[in-house]
Amino acid sequence: MNWNRAGQVIAGAAVLLMAGRLPAAPQGIPQPTPVNAVSASPEPKSIAREASGWLVDLIKINTSNPPGNENLAAMYVSGLLQKEGIKAELLDVGPGRSAVVARLRSSVVPDPSKALLLVAHLDVVPVEKARWTVDPFSGVVRDGYMYGRGAIDDKGMLAANLAVFIHLKRTNAHLNRDVIFLATADEEGSGDASIRTLIAKYWDKFAAGFAINEGGNVFMKNGKVQYIGVQASEKVAVNVALIARGTSGHASQPTKDNPIVHLAAAIAKIGTYSAPVHFTAIVRRYFEGIAPLEDDEIGKWIRSMDTPDRGEHAQRVVSDASPLWNSMMRDTIAPTILSAVVANYVIPAEARANLNVRLLPGDSINTLLNDLNKLVNDPAVRLEVQPNAGLAAPPSSLESDLYNLICRVASREFGGAPALPFQSTWLTDSAQLRLHNVQAYGLVPFPLSQEDLRRMHGDDERIPMASFDKGVDVLTKIVTEFAVTRY
Ligand SMILES: [Zn+2]
Repeated sequence: MNWNRAGQVIAGAAVLLMAGRLPAAPQGIPQPTPVNAVSASPEPKSIAREASGWLVDLIKINTSNPPGNENLAAMYVSGLLQKEGIKAELLDVGPGRSAVVARLRSSVVPDPSKALLLVAHLDVVPVEKARWTVDPFSGVVRDGYMYGRGAIDDKGMLAANLAVFIHLKRTNAHLNRDVIFLATADEEGSGDASIRTLIAKYWDKFAAGFAINEGGNVFMKNGKVQYIGVQASEKVAVNVALIARGTSGHASQPTKDNPIVHLAAAIAKIGTYSAPVHFTAIVRRYFEGIAPLEDDEIGKWIRSMDTPDRGEHAQRVVSDASPLWNSMMRDTIAPTILSAVVANYVIPAEARANLNVRLLPGDSINTLLNDLNKLVNDPAVRLEVQPNAGLAAPPSSLESDLYNLICRVASREFGGAPALPFQSTWLTDSAQLRLHNVQAYGLVPFPLSQEDLRRMHGDDERIPMASFDKGVDVLTKIVTEFAVTRY
C-alpha cells in the first residue's frame, strides 16, 4: 500500500466509524464501543472501563503472526483515534501489514528530543486452539479475568496506551512535550514488517527522546505486588543452526557417522551447558534490590553471588531457583527445532537443529560459538549463525527524569513496593529505539502473578480485570506527571 492509498483507507474507515456503519465480521473490524454507551467522564476509572471494551475488540481481530495481518487492527485503532478528533496515520510496512502513529502536540514547533512515545504492538503469537478452554479470539470475561490471545501481550498495553492518549486529548491536557502514540507490527516476528522498517521509512513521524513500551512487569507474589521491574535493557536473540553431516545409507547397516547420532550427542552436551556468569550493571542492581524481598535463605545466596569463596556455588543455587534469574546472568542456548527426515529406513546425510541463543548485551556470539565448538568437539558437527540476528543496544539510563518518575509513581501506586531496573531475557521493540538514542523503558503496568505471566505466550492467556483498571490508572499518572504542565 502506498502512502496515498493509506490516507484513503484511514479516511474511509473514519467515515464509516462516524456513521456507525462499519461492517462487523467476517473480515471484520469490530466497531468501537460508542463513547456515550459508557460514561464519557475523563476519570481514569471510567476510561479504563471503556478501554476494556477496546481490548475485547482488539482481541477479536486475529493478528496471529505469522502472518500478522495487522491492517484490520491498525484500522480499528486509527478509527478510534479519529473519532476522538485525533489525526492518525496508517504506516504501510508490507502487504496486509500496517502500523499506526498519532501525535498530541505541545507546541507548534516539535522538539523530538523531549517527546514521549507510547509504544505497543498489534500482532500476537499464534495459539494452539485445542489447548485453550475458551475461544482465544473472543475476549470472554470469566471470574474476573478477560481471556484471549494478546490480553496481556500486547493488546492490553495497546488498549492502556489508547486510554492514556485519549484521556489527554479529552481533558485538553496542557502538554509540556509532544506525546506520540505508536502501534507497531511484526514485533513477535522481528521480521521485515517490524519496527526496523518503521524506523527506516518513517522515523521523523515518531522520533522521540523517551519511550514507554512493554518489557518490564509489576510482579505479584502471594496476592501482593512484590516489585516493579522497569526494563532498561534486553538480551539479544541469535539463531544458530547446528548441522551434522554423514554418509546416507541403508538403515539395515548402521554406520558410525550417522548424523542423527552425532547431532543428538552434540545437543545433549549443549543442552546441559551453562555459559559463564556475567553481571551487567542493571542486573547487579536488580539482584541487590531483590535480595531483601526474597526469603532469608535465597536472599543470602543472592548476596553471596559476588563473593570469591562462595560465589560459584551461590550462582548455581540462584540459577536453579529461577529460569528467569538464570537467564539474566548468562548467555543461554535453547534447542528449539530438530530435523532429519528422509524415510524410516534411510540414514540421512544431514541432521539439523536450531539453537535459539540469547546473549547478554555486550557478549559476542563468536566467543560463545568458540566455547560450544570446544564442548561439542566433533568434526562432523558445525555451528552456523542464521540471518536476522539481533543487535545489542546500549541500556537506557537509570538516571533520566523518566526512569526516576516511573519508579517513583509506580512504587507509590503499588503500595510502596520497590521499583527495580530490569534487563528482560525477552526481546521488545525498545532495542531498536535505544539504537536510535531513545531512552526507552519497559513497563506493562498491570499487576500480574507468575501464573498469569506464564500464560503470555502459552494457553489461556488472560488478564485480571482489576489489574487492567489499575494499570490504566497508573500509566495515566506516569504520563501525566511526565508530560502535563500543572498550574
Ligand atoms: Zn509483546
